[in-house]
Amino acid sequence: MRNPDDLGDLGDLDPEEFRRRGYQVIDWICQYLATTRDYPVLSRARPGEILAQLPEAGPEEATPWEETLVTLDSVLLPGITHWNHPRFFAYFANTGSAPGILGATLATALNTNGMLWRTSPAATELEQRVLAWVREWLGLPAHYFGIIYEGASVSSLCALAAARQTTEGYNREQGVAALNGRLRLYRSEQAHSSIDKSALTLGLGLDSVRPVATLDNYSMDPAALHAAIKADRAAGLVPFCVVATAGTTSTTSIDPLADIADLCEREGLWMHVDAAYGGAVAIVPEKRQLLTGWERADSVVVNPHKWLYTPMSCSVLYTSRPDILRDAFSLVPEYLRSDVGDPDGTTSSADDEPAPTDLMNYGVELGRPFRALKLWMVLSAYGRRGIVDRLRAQLAMTADLADRIDLHPDFERLAAAPLGTVCFRFRPGAGCATGDGTSLPAVDDDPYAELNESLMAAVNGEGTIFISHTRLRGRLALRISIGNLRTTSPDVDLAWQTLQRTASRLSTG
Ligand SMILES: *Cc1c(COP(=O)(O)O)cnc(C)c1O
Repeated sequence: MRNPDDLGDLGDLDPEEFRRRGYQVIDWICQYLATTRDYPVLSRARPGEILAQLPEAGPEEATPWEETLVTLDSVLLPGITHWNHPRFFAYFANTGSAPGILGATLATALNTNGMLWRTSPAATELEQRVLAWVREWLGLPAHYFGIIYEGASVSSLCALAAARQTTEGYNREQGVAALNGRLRLYRSEQAHSSIDKSALTLGLGLDSVRPVATLDNYSMDPAALHAAIKADRAAGLVPFCVVATAGTTSTTSIDPLADIADLCEREGLWMHVDAAYGGAVAIVPEKRQLLTGWERADSVVVNPHKWLYTPMSCSVLYTSRPDILRDAFSLVPEYLRSDVGDPDGTTSSADDEPAPTDLMNYGVELGRPFRALKLWMVLSAYGRRGIVDRLRAQLAMTADLADRIDLHPDFERLAAAPLGTVCFRFRPGAGCATGDGTSLPAVDDDPYAELNESLMAAVNGEGTIFISHTRLRGRLALRISIGNLRTTSPDVDLAWQTLQRTASRLSTG
């Protein structure tokens, strides 16, 4: 009998062997998703532990498939932190949903590269259509152009490059040298580190980034923003962009988007909204007003791979000024020209046809995986209504948890929880809450930091839940983020019980 691992000819697996392994993989995934709760959420691997179990040299001969599966289970799985676990509450919870997994698999099978329209017309056109649906569902205006990038870090990088492109005195030939280090961008103290990384990558330098103070609720202070812009202009600097955040990474605070839009209009500055996490909530009608003002931005980033149930990675940038984005990035070498030797003239577009869009001209990525396919499958499987219902369920679990924390005499909240994330700490004897932690003054020294660090380490080590932390006005805060599709109320109950039990054990020594 022929050994199925011996390919015989020089090609790939034959279709029957692919089918056999493929069914095994699907069975593996089904088993995994049915039993994820049984795994410790956070991997217990020590640094280097997985590496040491993998052979130093690559396989000289084909490895039997069954052996590869054994390695997956016995070596790799213990080194996985289970993001698809229903009790993954750290950072921002996300979901590799079933329709998303299937879509990603199909996209891999097609292996298209959507750099040009002609290199897979369906990849470009499905992306355009699906992003128009999402735009509509989010309540963003019809003139927004959408494009999928790998992550919000890339989306914001491209948005800031477009913003820079609009700045008087900037030109592509000389780059930032033309402005001699005078460009300035504004973001709140609570903004994501990806904004500063964009400034690094774009050669603006960290001095170009102006951190703006926040108000009691951790949202950007528009008066401080205005003052900073004024002072910089007076000093001969060149403000070019304001980055507002809708759903900051520490507390999910939302900057005053309408005020910032007013200011950007008056000052002639590009407004970019980082709604990587929080943007999805605009699909829920009663929550949309939280984001009022974002529809006036020049660019907005929303990550379907965060709170829209789409597997990693999938980030969407919307911009009202796609021509500027194109000006910032378009470079078409001879070998990528579509108009030369075009078989039927499609790319030179007849009068009655829209000109095809080559998405490689709208960002740093040339090769573009077919990420729209999984997003389309997710949206198709649930429908807008199904997504609203799911988001509502997660919002309700979050609000319920916040209430329980408020009612507990030994726990207190450290920030408002407008979205799916709660910031709190263990403080024995705190008493029941009188507020949501919004107006707490800053402290230099946090006497409860160590206790809360120990609490986090203990629950994460136990494996039932995985939570993360941040620091808010000097206080160590624990964070619980609820956004995984498979998280149920009993999972949240279990998290809360685990925290209470572990906290009381720690405080009674
Ligand atoms: C997660 C997040 C980012 C970074 O997103 P990536 O897709 O991982 O690059 C940026 N900004 C905010 C507000 C985020 O929540």
